[in-house]
Amino acid sequence: QSWDAAVAAVRATPPDAEVQLVCHVNPDGDALGSMLGFALGLRRLGFTRLSATFAGEFDVPEPYRVLPGIDLLVPSSSAFTAPALVLIFDVAGESRLGELVRLLDGDAPVVVLDHHASNTGFGTVGLVDPAAVATSVVAEELLARLGVELDAEIAECLYVALATDTGSFKFVRSPSVHELAARLIATGISPGDIARRIFDTRPFGAMKLAGEVLGRAVLDPAAAGGRGMVWTYATTADLERHDQRPYVLDSLIDPVRGVAEADVAVVVKEQLPGEWSVSLRSKGAVDVSAVAVALGGGGHRLAAGFTAYGSPSEVIEQIRPLLDAHLA
Ligand code: 5GP
Ligand code: MN
Ligand code: MN
Repeated sequence: QSWDAAVAAVRATPPDAEVQLVCHVNPDGDALGSMLGFALGLRRLGFTRLSATFAGEFDVPEPYRVLPGIDLLVPSSSAFTAPALVLIFDVAGESRLGELVRLLDGDAPVVVLDHHASNTGFGTVGLVDPAAVATSVVAEELLARLGVELDAEIAECLYVALATDTGSFKFVRSPSVHELAARLIATGISPGDIARRIFDTRPFGAMKLAGEVLGRAVLDPAAAGGRGMVWTYATTADLERHDQRPYVLDSLIDPVRGVAEADVAVVVKEQLPGEWSVSLRSKGAVDVSAVAVALGGGGHRLAAGFTAYGSPSEVIEQIRPLLDAHLA
């Protein structure tokens, strides 16, 4: 059993050994929250040399900079070179590890906690539950099996992760999600304050930028076998004009996916000149995870993404035929 193997891997690690935790590039609330919550749990177990990181630019979205355990977060260039244990969070495939993929080739066991249906099965021990709404659900279960009791700091991290990946509990599929939320809230954390900080606070420039990006959205009613697609894009020039960081674009998929006339929503976000991070959402007619996998990415049936090159309309032309190919 994978749970037993994961528990054994942690128990076999001396508390003064180096433990490296890793989440995916361009980290979101689930990636950072599950990783830092788990790191704090390891600290409670007595581990003293903990480091948490992610590949690529060290650009932590503003709302997550006050997460408990943020002191453990370091740029990938400062990650351990030969840790005794590696724990990976919310990473569906090796490409989302960037340069930290090197950790898979070391001597240390690699425990992967994830919930993507498209998970490629990398690592030594895989705790991959596609039925889990967030990686933090998997993280909480492993912490419980290790005998870690939830405290308010761990709970805040896991709650941020849960709230992020469930769209503030809109995408919940079972009572167990609210049962977990209840256990987290029982530690004394404040869900209202957390929600305001994470979802309802943004710089003025980010709001103005959102206005422009949403204003240029295109409705394509014939796409996806007539179920419709709505798409928009944002460039690095847009970001510069409003003096914003790329992560402020990540929440724009939410208003776009709400368009009644389209089943599929797409936001094409320029990360570096000519390199685009693409967010895909479906209301059910299309398996966007299959579309993303076909284009080198991954995700879930109703929420997925990939990296693309070219112009926004070229990216859309790549997606369009695949929507018809992956109609549910
Ligand atoms: P988002 O659109 O919020 O960035 O991502 C939606 C889902 O797709 C998340 O589960 C995320 O992990 C996945 N995803 C986004 N971009 C990529 C990518 O480039 N590669 C892979 N494998 N998954 C991605
Ligand atoms: Mn994620
Ligand atoms: Mn996740």
